[in-house]
Amino acid sequence: MLLLGGGAAVAAGAAAVAAREELAYWWGQLPGNSRPRKEGEVDFAGAQWSAASPANYRQANRPDDYTVDRVVIHVVQGSFATALKVFRDPFHEASAHYVVRGDGHIAQTVRELDVAFHAGNRGYNERSVGIEHAGFVDRPESFTPDMYAASARLTAGICRRYDFPADREHVVGHIEVPGTDHTDPGSHWDWDRYLTLVRAELRRPAARTRPGTT
Ligand SMILES: [Zn+2]
Repeated sequence: MLLLGGGAAVAAGAAAVAAREELAYWWGQLPGNSRPRKEGEVDFAGAQWSAASPANYRQANRPDDYTVDRVVIHVVQGSFATALKVFRDPFHEASAHYVVRGDGHIAQTVRELDVAFHAGNRGYNERSVGIEHAGFVDRPESFTPDMYAASARLTAGICRRYDFPADREHVVGHIEVPGTDHTDPGSHWDWDRYLTLVRAELRRPAARTRPGTT
């Protein structure tokens, strides 16, 4: 970034990378330095915009200030409508970037630029995109073919945008986030099926958009 030479940053270890990200973060907070954003704009073509309360996420300028290299998979333990409702509640203290419904419909509630509070771990929130799936961990019927397909398209787009591989190191469940006491997405979530769909999507041409959507 502008505050450190590129060569120095590349040569530096993890601590220096963290320092660089901290500097970049503060640079992004200065007036005039944040990226322009338009109400209703989405990062995934076809997603419905349904804004979370600004109290439930932190404005940022990813990936300039924080490297994005993870997707965190969640299950709502409730309905699609419930997820959108609680994310709008300024006292909920949590949000995710996306919510996927059983019929494959997707809502975006926080921009990927911003840090949603979904992983219960600051570092993971800063480096990841959080995707909620409507339903319950103990109800396998929650996870429909349409949901897997839509979520896989979404995750493939995220892998492309931030250039990281679709594997189990980079696409994780909430349960795998260090320090979490959450168990989602649970044992009924079919990881092999999901990653196979994500990888199939990544083999398609990049500019593909669904017909009838913007
Ligand atoms: Zn979760």
